[in-house]
Amino acid sequence: MNIYLDIDGVLLINENQAAPFADEFLQYILTNYPNSTYWLTTHCWRGENRAVEILTPVLKEKTLKMLSIIKPTEWGNYKTDAIDFSQPFLWFDDDLFPEEEVILQQNNASGSQVRVNLYKDPNQLQKILDSFPVR
Ligand SMILES: [Mg+2]
Repeated sequence: MNIYLDIDGVLLINENQAAPFADEFLQYILTNYPNSTYWLTTHCWRGENRAVEILTPVLKEKTLKMLSIIKPTEWGNYKTDAIDFSQPFLWFDDDLFPEEEVILQQNNASGSQVRVNLYKDPNQLQKILDSFPVR
């Protein structure tokens, strides 16, 4: 299964703070999906990858050491450009364009998008971990 990760509003609850359980979440994902986890964030866009730089001040050392295995993606106007719809996937994001919602629907993949809303539930990453699909 491919895993696509947004940063703002998913791994970061605000500019200077990791989301609660972001370390546990990333460690779990990268232990279970080490070869199929991708950045899908404006911090990794058009050939520039600042994802690790953005997260370095807020994550634990152990987590940071694992981040280098996350692969960059290429996308243009829409993050859905980067998604391989021929493979099962989970896409963690807090904010989609209507066009992206439509593309998900057209690919029968709306259920693969996990909407993170840390304002509504700051501990959502922990709950996601508790219910995470087994490989
Ligand atoms: Mg976001």
